Amino acid sequence: MKKVIILGCTGSIGKSAIDVIKSMPGDFKVTALSAHSNEEELLNQAKILDVKKMALTGKKPVDGSITYYSPNGLLDMIADVGADIVVNGVAGADGLLPSVTSLKTGKNLALANKETVVMAGSLITDIASQNNKKIIPVDSEHSAIFQLLEGKKKEDIDEIIITASGGAFRDLPVSELKNVKLEDAIKHPNWSMGTKITIDSSSMANKGLEVIEAYLLFNIPLSKIKVLIHPQSMVHSMIRTAEGSLYAQISKPDMRVPIQNALTWPDVGPSLFGRLDLAGVSLTFQAPDLEKYRMLKLAYTAAELGQGSSIAYNAANEIAVDAFVNRKIDFLGIPNIVEHTIEKLGFKGIDTIEDIVEADNRTRIFVKEILGNI
Ligand code: NDP
Ligand code: MG
Repeated sequence: MKKVIILGCTGSIGKSAIDVIKSMPGDFKVTALSAHSNEEELLNQAKILDVKKMALTGKKPVDGSITYYSPNGLLDMIADVGADIVVNGVAGADGLLPSVTSLKTGKNLALANKETVVMAGSLITDIASQNNKKIIPVDSEHSAIFQLLEGKKKEDIDEIIITASGGAFRDLPVSELKNVKLEDAIKHPNWSMGTKITIDSSSMANKGLEVIEAYLLFNIPLSKIKVLIHPQSMVHSMIRTAEGSLYAQISKPDMRVPIQNALTWPDVGPSLFGRLDLAGVSLTFQAPDLEKYRMLKLAYTAAELGQGSSIAYNAANEIAVDAFVNRKIDFLGIPNIVEHTIEKLGFKGIDTIEDIVEADNRTRIFVKEILGNI
């Protein structure tokens, strides 16, 4: 039985991970769970899964059986509890340190929290290899690429093609974007996900983060990483080998599949969530309009500029999305703020996790000042 810790168990990824584990009785034992503020759901899941170790990061728990609290308490729990693999479904930059602690305390990492890779880049892949541990991506595109790259030599890879649904505004002309509302941005055509990532899909900041994630996780030149809009969300990504062939991973848009693949890796599990029958299905692709999806273009700029700018891209976007959710800025305020932040903020070398945290904090202060002046 593989022992599993699930971080962010009350969220979209966390709940899907629990679904996978419940569908494979006898294969996994959950040893610890974490949530941020949803204490009731955390306790409920712990009861169902018979888990004794729990952490709550966002507030002091009312219930005495939750013995770990605060962000540091979460790190203590990860270090204290034995596990083969940690599913990191924490939302946002606060997922970074739990990823670091997981790897340093000898656990493989089933990583949904893309911010970990975007912020830490080679630092996190180095920590994994120094500790002889594996980062197995859960993000559906990177899960696909991870599997497609297995057994291939890096020098034979000509392109990585990340697919994108195009989000809520796929069919909207660029001239209309200035009028869109929060209610429009949180309607995803294909996937049911947390609010922040759904808004990031509308702006394609999510795809921007994924371009940076692929660049840093697979150590492939940025110029070889492409994005194609694929409205059906069935081809989860592709690779092209040197002689020109394309290889694709195709399955239903269901996050439980990449989570299952990460949990069972290096083995392949049974079919639990339905097979995709391609008969009669049309798969279409189109190039994204970078003037419409400015957040995608900015991600390439940030990745090119270096690690500090990738951290700034992520942090500025997080604060800007939060301001959009709180109706302080309009939708186009998001790319405006991120562009301005990347232009204005410069960073010296990012060599340690402390440097990352500092760059992240500096960006947040900078953006909050801009917002304060609006
Ligand atoms: P949700 O918002 O649905 O869930 C987030 C989870 O993290 C909740 O359990 C929440 O607890 C917890 N959490 C929130 N803030 C903090 C914090 N500051 N510290 C610790 N825990 C926190 O997010 P998603 O599940 O959608 O996304 C999680 C991660 O996975 C993100 O990085 C996202 O980009 C990535 N991802 C998600 C996909 C999806 O399909 N949803 C697909 C691919 C990647 P509480 O409920 O108590 O607030
Ligand atoms: Mg994805």
